Amino acid sequence: MFNNNFTSLKNFNTFGFDIQAKNLLVIKSETDLIDNFKAENINLSSKIIGGGSNILFTHNVDELLLKNEIEGINIIAETDETIDIAFGGGENWHKIVLYCVNNNWGGLENLSLIPGCVGASPIQNIGAYGSEIKDTFQWLKAFNLKTGELEIFNHSQCNFGYRDSYFKNEGKNLYFITQVCFRLSKNPKINVQYGDIQAILDQKGITHPTIKNVSDAVIEIRQSKLPDPAVLGNCGSFFKNPVISLSHFEKIKENHPSIKSFPVSETEIKVPAGWLIEQAGWKGKKVGNVGVHEKQALVLVNYGQGTGLEIKILAESIQKDILEKFTISLEIEVNIW
Ligand SMILES: Cc1cc2nc3c(=O)[nH]c(=O)nc-3n(C[C@H](O)[C@H](O)[C@H](O)COP(=O)(O)OP(=O)(O)OC[C@H]3O[C@@H](n4cnc5c(N)ncnc54)[C@H](O)[C@@H]3O)c2cc1C
Repeated sequence: MFNNNFTSLKNFNTFGFDIQAKNLLVIKSETDLIDNFKAENINLSSKIIGGGSNILFTHNVDELLLKNEIEGINIIAETDETIDIAFGGGENWHKIVLYCVNNNWGGLENLSLIPGCVGASPIQNIGAYGSEIKDTFQWLKAFNLKTGELEIFNHSQCNFGYRDSYFKNEGKNLYFITQVCFRLSKNPKINVQYGDIQAILDQKGITHPTIKNVSDAVIEIRQSKLPDPAVLGNCGSFFKNPVISLSHFEKIKENHPSIKSFPVSETEIKVPAGWLIEQAGWKGKKVGNVGVHEKQALVLVNYGQGTGLEIKILAESIQKDILEKFTISLEIEVNIW
């Protein structure tokens, strides 16, 4: 299990960078964590990786890298209406979504085809197509890297926000998430309001969609819009959609009447970062071995020989340009190491 020869992480990060980890430790169970903590292998400086689909590696990893491979699907509670299921943190996210969809347990179907592992899903409260994990989340179990104890976090303790949680703030680098429990519905409510889901269902003549129909539609849309990391290295959306004041929005709209927006509150509004980047002329731009995807300006890509540093420099140039052109600071969604 303990590998202290350098290990290439090329196949463990969706940008496909050939970064080396000095020490890689595969974690298969909570006992593995406890035993290695007692043996003083694991401590607060240890790093954690799941599917590597939200990490930008800019240098080799010198710290001990813990790879989460904790499996398991456990039914915790069940009523006529709902089912609570806890998944091991190392389970593949899309696999567990399909498992729920195939059992007609609703709640995760709009999150189909998001890469990565279950254990990372609460970190940034993954979301897509009008749904976030906070909508079905019940609790999670996490190993405290400082005390060596396993702790349970309920919904409010996770402090979920838009692509945000306690684990990106006060709890950053402090916990290894081992299990996540979701409450799913046996009488699923269909959510087709967002994006092109309804249009795809209409095209197919589906008038009474099931969650399987919704999942299939989401998969189809994602495959048509987002580059497949197996073909073109990327980490999905690189920046968060910024939230700005209504007055700021109205000012931008004067010069850009086509700007899209999503209401947030009476005084604030969210604008698509991809739209801003596209308007600023970055869409499809190639810089050295990296660039901005030609179909989706929010996605930065590695053309094969690129490095994490090139992506970081490109991201900083985009941030500077958007600040100058729109007076908006773009926040990076991806974790930079
Ligand atoms: C093509 C593509 C599309 C994407 N689309 C979406 C989308 O629609 N919505 C969305 O929200 N995200 C999206 N993402 C981002 C990514 O898939 C998610 O953030 C996913 O949850 C990351 O999971 P992972 O296992 O790959 O995490 P990793 O990249 O391995 O890790 C991400 C961060 O979480 C930490 N971490 C990982 N596992 C654990 C754990 N068990 N305990 C504690 N910390 C941990 C890591 O240390 C790191 O800081 C997309 C990515 C790609 C490549």
